Amino acid sequence: MEEEISKSDYTKELTGKIALITGASRGIGRGIARKLASLGATVLVNYNGSEQKAQELAEEIAAAGGCAECIGCDVSDFTACAGMVEQIITKYGHVDILVNNAGVTRDNLLMRMSEEDYDKVLDINLKGAFNTMRHLAKYFLKQRSGKIVNISSVSGVLGNAGQANYSASKAGLIGLTKSVARELASRGVCVNAVAPGFIDTEMTQALSEKAREAGVAAVPMGRMGSVEDIAETVAFLAGDRSNYITGQVICVDGGMAI
Ligand code: NAP
Repeated sequence: MEEEISKSDYTKELTGKIALITGASRGIGRGIARKLASLGATVLVNYNGSEQKAQELAEEIAAAGGCAECIGCDVSDFTACAGMVEQIITKYGHVDILVNNAGVTRDNLLMRMSEEDYDKVLDINLKGAFNTMRHLAKYFLKQRSGKIVNISSVSGVLGNAGQANYSASKAGLIGLTKSVARELASRGVCVNAVAPGFIDTEMTQALSEKAREAGVAAVPMGRMGSVEDIAETVAFLAGDRSNYITGQVICVDGGMAI
């Protein structure tokens, strides 16, 4: 007989879990932090420049009955990430969920792209995820469980004119995800990627009206996605309902990558 699933199995399915979300002060990361906290996880809100916003989010989560703490760290800095992980392990003893969400754009056509803008995007979007996984891997291996979710992009799946640096970082993140998934699978650690399409955040609000219209025109479902659309998928990959899924890329993009 099939097991009956009560509503409560879903409502607080992450109770007792410790979740580190990078770049959680704004946008998609903030949405993910809110969602995981609402499911019972203690969320560690990583930020780099937006300390005030991270603090406000932690207060909002606490006011709603959840648990959150802010941790400042530039994820592109290998040594700083080691310090962040050490700080977390000292206080909480372990991490169950790591979401590598921190990301930036420095868009330009290849012919006009500076070396600095190329390096900046790769350092944060790709090396940042390496840094956190590198320092947390031994704890995940030791506890023989864990969920890592890397936020890639439809640009990493399809490529995008004007985003050579960003697409390279996000495609690289997919390769990194699949390789680490293979390395950690036998110890019960799942590593997956989510590839958002065109999502309404400050990152896309910074685009010109023309670019935003062109972006929406490329979405078969005809609208931008919300941070909640992404957070729902991350919550699924962070919880027990996805325990047999690893090394996958889930496009949450209204059909852009069909
Ligand atoms: P956003 O609104 O610009 O927020 C970016 C977040 O990344 C901020 O919280 C920022 O924190 C953090 N961050 C940037 N550099 C960092 C660093 N060096 N160390 C730690 N945190 C850093 O962007 P978003 O739209 O929410 O994007 C979130 C993720 O989704 C990114 O990886 C992005 O590439 C990906 N994505 C977005 C879309 C979209 O349409 N919006 C589509 C596909 C993929 P501070 O402000 O504190 O520095």
